[in-house]
Amino acid sequence: MLRVYNTLTRKLEVFEPIAPPRVGMYVCGVTVYDTVHVGHARSYVNFDAIRRHLEFSGYEVKHVQNFTDIDDKIIERANREGRDWRELTAFYTAEYFRLMDRLGIKRAHHYPRATEYVPKMIEMVKGLVEKGHAYVTPSGDVYFDVSTFPEYGELAGKARLEQETVSRVRSSGEKRNPADFALWKAAKPGEPKWPSPWGEGRPGWHIECSAMSMDLLGESFDIHGGGHDLIFPHHTNEMAQSQCYTGKPMARYWLHNGFINMRGEKMSKSLGNFVTLEEAMDRHGAAALRMFILKTHYRSQLAFDISLVDEAAAALERLAEAVSDARTAMAHLPDSPPPSPTKSARRLAESADGLADAFKEAMDDDFNTPAALAALFEHAQKVFSYVRSVTGPSSPGLDAGLLGRATGELERLLGVLGFAAEEAGYDAEALRRAMEKEGFQTPEGSDPLEEALRLRRSLREERKFEAADRIREAVKEATGFKVKDWPFATTVSRLRMTTERPAGEEASA
Ligand SMILES: [Zn+2]
Repeated sequence: MLRVYNTLTRKLEVFEPIAPPRVGMYVCGVTVYDTVHVGHARSYVNFDAIRRHLEFSGYEVKHVQNFTDIDDKIIERANREGRDWRELTAFYTAEYFRLMDRLGIKRAHHYPRATEYVPKMIEMVKGLVEKGHAYVTPSGDVYFDVSTFPEYGELAGKARLEQETVSRVRSSGEKRNPADFALWKAAKPGEPKWPSPWGEGRPGWHIECSAMSMDLLGESFDIHGGGHDLIFPHHTNEMAQSQCYTGKPMARYWLHNGFINMRGEKMSKSLGNFVTLEEAMDRHGAAALRMFILKTHYRSQLAFDISLVDEAAAALERLAEAVSDARTAMAHLPDSPPPSPTKSARRLAESADGLADAFKEAMDDDFNTPAALAALFEHAQKVFSYVRSVTGPSSPGLDAGLLGRATGELERLLGVLGFAAEEAGYDAEALRRAMEKEGFQTPEGSDPLEEALRLRRSLREERKFEAADRIREAVKEATGFKVKDWPFATTVSRLRMTTERPAGEEASA
């Protein structure tokens, strides 16, 4: 039974979609005027995990995410750089997809753009004016009248609302109430504009999500999500205008992810302290960044700390090594389960049988990814113990069926969080050079990795440990692979945990 924390009620609630198994989910997207930073990445990784878990649980999710492609910031940047605003937004939209694909974010089913929805927005604003929820000013702006919606601010909480409203008082003299917000803005010279019943102008920001979600998901839908900073004013205003227009609740569950902090402050563009997502992925790998984000619950605050990203990378390496060791054992040892299972076999079997339930139980608790990951790490430990027991000198015999099942479950559930194990390639010439530097020639035409491993094994047999270790270091340096000395062979761990890519994409961590 899935329970989710609803910002609107401030309670954990049992998840009951309007028309199961279908789930409509709207996540507010980016304003396409700049590159994506780590704070955005957190939000989209969190909602990607939420969607994947819903799908894993048997729901059919329809995921909609908008692009705000008309906005003050877009106009300002386009004017400053002397670019056409359409070219600017097309550029940053493509950037968004490129970076999100790398991070393993599943594509939404619809990506509506604000500029495609202007007629629908005008229709909605017209309806709100007709119903007395909005008013037109002499300059041709249209404002939503918050006094006509008694529940206004419920999402943000009354105390927060009052505080926010006070800080926003300096505003247009044409507003009836300082909290009233623009649905339509009269055109200023040099700005993109559309014709409307109130003269030429452009839509306010909030109205786009109301128009798009209603068009693609209906008047009421299941999940409305976004970053914590969207609760007020954006989601508060969306809710007011949608509910006044339709007379129905806009969304059943309002989900918000926490901030990423840098040096104690929320990471945002206006503070100028953001790390671009691309920088972070180049530095640490996309999978490590994804793991770093998922190791914290989506509603908790998260401090961007390089040592934590390194820890996440090490955790992923450990998971990959567990799968890799198991595959090595299965490739080299005969399948000969002992008549009665050993203690570590029993433990592994028990863990494999209960893993999906443990994972689901954690994720069903408001998408508790850190608890779900903890269950997977614990299981990986049991894989290591079992592999150790069957590859040692007094092996009781390998139960290949058991080990295959145990690693299969691990990989399947890692897949629900968007990770996939993949065999990494290496630069053969770099390895050849690294070996040469240590004084080892690898014959032309031979596979230098096989050659290195064969050589290390024979040097160890001759008890020439110092020379054997120089080979291990050369392999590590040139390929990044960890050398493993087993009683039956010397191998390397070539598996990497990567982010799951859309089909056809070149994958790398
Ligand atoms: Zn929105």
